[in-house]
Amino acid sequence: MLRTHKLGEADRIVTLLTRHHGRVRAVAKGVRRTTSKFGARLEPFTHVDLQLAEGRNLDVITQAETRTAYSAELGLDYERYTSGTVMLETAERLASEEKEPSLQQFLLLVGALRAMAGDERRPGQVLDSYLLRSLAVAGYAPSFDGCAHCGREGPHRWVNPSMGGVLCSTCRLPGSASPASETIRVLGALLTGDWQVVDAAEPRHLKEASGLIAAFVSWHLERSLRSMEYVER
Ligand SMILES: [Zn+2]
Repeated sequence: MLRTHKLGEADRIVTLLTRHHGRVRAVAKGVRRTTSKFGARLEPFTHVDLQLAEGRNLDVITQAETRTAYSAELGLDYERYTSGTVMLETAERLASEEKEPSLQQFLLLVGALRAMAGDERRPGQVLDSYLLRSLAVAGYAPSFDGCAHCGREGPHRWVNPSMGGVLCSTCRLPGSASPASETIRVLGALLTGDWQVVDAAEPRHLKEASGLIAAFVSWHLERSLRSMEYVER
């Protein structure tokens, strides 16, 4: 469940990322009445089993069973909640075509929500890793090793989100960032899930990596994510 908004007096339109049908919008009738049998199950951060009936414009939800409500854990922690909100918004934007299957995005999001609800990793690290991987799944995998333009083997010191990753000194464009080399290693580790490197990194390099990841995401989604500004870094 990615997002819901009100429709008429008692209904909601819910936006879902589904395992088999990609992003789907559907109507949940009567859910804002206190007597609704599945109102609370149709909230963001909830993994639900749904049955849909084809409607005139939008599908209609006829049944909903909660699998896991991550909303409970995320709702208690501001950092987890805001980071989780960015993940939902990113998933919605990257699954841009309605009903186009995107199993990998679905599995990635479910895994990231589980990690976000747990306390094994810092919320910011779960978010950063999710953002890089969801870009990769969508076909925008950044390169943090070979030059994103000519392919020359790295390491390289220039980073340019609009060019898709690091650039060698021949290809570098004006305005490219030149972060610490440790930061570029952290970016690569977040993309591949090399947590040993992430855990050993200094806070300033993690922070620098977060800023660059936000720039990559913004570039690909064309405008910055509204929810991103609430995440404290
Ligand atoms: Zn190059």
